[in-house]
Amino acid sequence: MRLRIVLSLLGLVVGLGVAPAAAQADPVAADACYTWGRTLSQGASGEDVRQLQIRVAGYPGYGAVLGIDGSFGPATKAAVTRFQQAYGLGADGIAGPATFSKLYALQDNDCTPVNFTYAELNRCNSDWSGGNVSAATARANALVSMWKLQAMRHALGDRPITVNGGFRSVTCNRNVGGVANSRHLYGDAVDLGAGSMGFCALAKQARNHGFAEILGPGYTGHNDHVHVAHRSGRFWSAPNCGVS
Ligand SMILES: [Zn+2]
Repeated sequence: MRLRIVLSLLGLVVGLGVAPAAAQADPVAADACYTWGRTLSQGASGEDVRQLQIRVAGYPGYGAVLGIDGSFGPATKAAVTRFQQAYGLGADGIAGPATFSKLYALQDNDCTPVNFTYAELNRCNSDWSGGNVSAATARANALVSMWKLQAMRHALGDRPITVNGGFRSVTCNRNVGGVANSRHLYGDAVDLGAGSMGFCALAKQARNHGFAEILGPGYTGHNDHVHVAHRSGRFWSAPNCGVS
């Protein structure tokens, strides 16, 4: 009898957990970084949508870039759907408890994805100052790039991706001979090592994960790393990998 009650309660809990009408995320899943308080679908807007967009920015589709604007439109729905497919969740483009639960599992307490850190993305200084944007903007840009890399890492079979560096102040950029308007000055550029997969596998895969700028083997100064970044307009050049 007692078991039957427990089982029926369990069934009720499970039922509530998957009910489309459930508007509240499971409070048990509350997360130290960020906790969503409602299910999000197309038409929604707000800071919770923006937080979601940051985390699915790596799922825009080939050659596309997801806008991080706090407005849940068709592109956000498509990105959420791709994220759900990537993790074997019900793929309806609606971010509810199951989607949030997976995102909680993927993020550290500082909101970086579990396999990347702010320290890796900034080997220049400790406070993200001295670039072409404010320190806060540079750091926020780096966070989005990390989530794109997390998506890319998962798509490549969850094999480690080697990060050689990211943000540079004007001084750091000058010291390494970076170009004058390098995306490293904005915080969103990341230089990747060959790792176990090699440069071309990385450069090719990056095309699917929201990087408008991809530079690699065959492009001046990029035979020893792959550079991925955000920018307005697309610029892909890794001729030795067939990426252009
Ligand atoms: Zn670079």
